[in-house]
Amino acid sequence: MGALKYSRQRESIKEFLAGRKDHPTADVVYMNIRKSYPNISLGTVYRNLSLLESLGEVQKLSCGDGAERFDPNTSPHYHFICRNCGCVQDIPLVPVGELEAMASERFEGFIEGHTAMFYGICCQCRKDGE
Ligand code: ZN
Ligand code: MN
Repeated sequence: MGALKYSRQRESIKEFLAGRKDHPTADVVYMNIRKSYPNISLGTVYRNLSLLESLGEVQKLSCGDGAERFDPNTSPHYHFICRNCGCVQDIPLVPVGELEAMASERFEGFIEGHTAMFYGICCQCRKDGE
């Protein structure tokens, strides 16, 4: 594989994501990167995000709400989505290996991993609702 051309735009997307815990969508990344690169297109942001994902530098999450979200934390972990505000937060729990063993016993193929999305009401929405 040839060396990937260094891209300042890709680097700044990576830097932007690095400080985030809120799993931003490509749109949110785009809005922010545009502040430094006013001519960048949403398509370029998408392409760079996909590239970063295939390089294993970011994790892509499908949250069931249509939009893909991006996570700088590439280690396996679970997520929570608030059904009120739609925020996506980390659940600090190492994926349960037992679950994979149980699934493997009931499945002919080869299971390589799993993800889980918990849902309910986030802490902030819970407070606001009181
Ligand atoms: Zn919420
Ligand atoms: Mn996460």
